[in-house]
Amino acid sequence: MINVQDLMKTYNDVKALNGLSFQAHDGEITGLLGPNGAGKTTCLRSLYGLIQPDSGSVEVDGLTPKTQALDVRRRIGIFPDKFGLHERLTPREHIRYIAQLHGLKGEVLDTQVERVIAELNMADIVDRRTQGFSQGQRMKVALAQAIVHQPKNLILDEPSRGLDVMSTRILRELMFGLREQGRCILFSSHVMQEVAALCDRVVIMVKGQVVANDTPAALCEQTGEASFED
Ligand code: ADP
Ligand code: ADP
Repeated sequence: MINVQDLMKTYNDVKALNGLSFQAHDGEITGLLGPNGAGKTTCLRSLYGLIQPDSGSVEVDGLTPKTQALDVRRRIGIFPDKFGLHERLTPREHIRYIAQLHGLKGEVLDTQVERVIAELNMADIVDRRTQGFSQGQRMKVALAQAIVHQPKNLILDEPSRGLDVMSTRILRELMFGLREQGRCILFSSHVMQEVAALCDRVVIMVKGQVVANDTPAALCEQTGEASFED
């Protein structure tokens, strides 16, 4: 569970977050929807401790990134907004590397890596160099890295940006599977349609503040077809 309360963050004179508050619950997919510059990335980075907010509080399963950074990182998986793959390495090597950073060793390491390869149905690509991989294949490597340590919470920053329709559909199915397992999933997007198709709850943010927080059905009734396309 993720709890954000009254978060403030100013860069120089830009107010990126201006009293942001919302919660994301276990067993649900929560969408953080807003136009470019709304503060989505700043919010997500505060959750894994990459950014120190000026004030307000962030909790992940009741823990604070500032003082319990290691525990928090164990509990969250991160699908970053720009993920780089090493072209000379295979997906298996990518996944093992991140798993080792999380402290997995020996048999547990092997088991978890094999589990995620099976779960994401990537056995056919796992020992090929990633050079020349499609967007969908790259997405799977990044997602495998995000969930190899079985985090309770999964955070995705604009996961479908740059993905084709097929890869987006695969990602959606995988997220539904993770929700079934009771995980707390929080992802950001600037496309209402995508959020509506995927989420149990939508938090709309503009200029660092929440302007709406409801189910997709209720929001569509209120706003019609809202979108923040670039
Ligand atoms: P979003 O992810 O919704 O596009 P961001 O969190 O990236 O929003 O940005 C929110 C605002 O903060 C924007 O105006 C952006 O230009 C500004 N901003 C983000 N990161 C920095 C930074 N490192 N330095 C200065 N301004 C920043
Ligand atoms: P996104 O759209 O995913 O929020 P951006 O492409 O806007 O990401 O930002 C890329 C990087 O540049 C981030 O590390 C962000 O913090 C930083 N950044 C964004 N806006 C500014 C800014 N006005 N000044 C300095 N750094 C910024």
